[in-house]
Amino acid sequence: MDLGLNGKRALVTAASRGLGRASALALAAEGARVAVAGRRVEAMAELLDELRAAGAPEAIAVPMDLARPETLRASVDQVATAFGGLDIFVGNTGGPASGPFLSVPRAGWETALNETLLPLVELSHAVLPKMQAGGWGRIIFITTVGVKVVQPNMVLSDSLRLAVVGLAKSLSIEFAHEGIMVNCLCPGPFATDRMEDLIRASMDRDGLSRAAAETLWLDEVPVGKFGDPRDFGAVVATLASERAGFITGTAIALDGGKSRAY
Ligand code: NAD
Repeated sequence: MDLGLNGKRALVTAASRGLGRASALALAAEGARVAVAGRRVEAMAELLDELRAAGAPEAIAVPMDLARPETLRASVDQVATAFGGLDIFVGNTGGPASGPFLSVPRAGWETALNETLLPLVELSHAVLPKMQAGGWGRIIFITTVGVKVVQPNMVLSDSLRLAVVGLAKSLSIEFAHEGIMVNCLCPGPFATDRMEDLIRASMDRDGLSRAAAETLWLDEVPVGKFGDPRDFGAVVATLASERAGFITGTAIALDGGKSRAY
């Protein structure tokens, strides 16, 4: 199947590792021109080589610290200038801290808000006019399966990501008539550095063995193993494609069967 991504102009944020990186690589493999955004541009040199080797006709890295609002719009403008426009925005962020509710003071909520929800709002403001100018667009926010089924010790992520889903659904009705589709992907446990951090946090906080901590994340996953980020990237590429022109306002679980939500 031709996904129609050849030459499309994509921006992936928080792209240096994990699901963001896998998303960028999958878009590159379909021939998209890919911009990756992260805090340290020099640390993404190897990724740029990988993107080109995967098939991206053009790959650039732009500086963006999601916690610093002044870097967001400037980086989007930099990408649109380099590519002559922008068609696809994969809005990824780092994951907020884990822990039980009483361990998270107001400052923790403010940090998570500033690094998880508000950057996606600001970035949407920046990317949407560029997509409107081209009469076509795909926005994909990376959230969590916690928007379908709440998870222990993930109060920040599960609460704020529901707001991201609300944002996506609101954008979907405002921009669909302009050819701009807006969706969320909701990952369950994938084998990334973030998952490693969460397993270690469970071990430290609850005194669990590694096997017990892994079981915490896997025992409600019928597939019975951590997801492969490459499989996540493949779904991103599909949702970013021409073929996904009738999908908008959805929040799709990629969770090995964990949520089973309707
Ligand atoms: P990861 O920790 O492996 O990678 C996160 C990326 O975000 C890194 O590239 C990091 O450099 C970047 N980042 C963090 N803070 C940043 C900032 N202020 N500015 C710019 N970049 C920043 O995480 P991941 O596993 O790839 O997860 C990606 C997203 O998916 C996260 O929001 C996470 O909460 C969510 N998620 C992941 C899983 C999973 O199992 N991996 C499950 C549910 C939800």
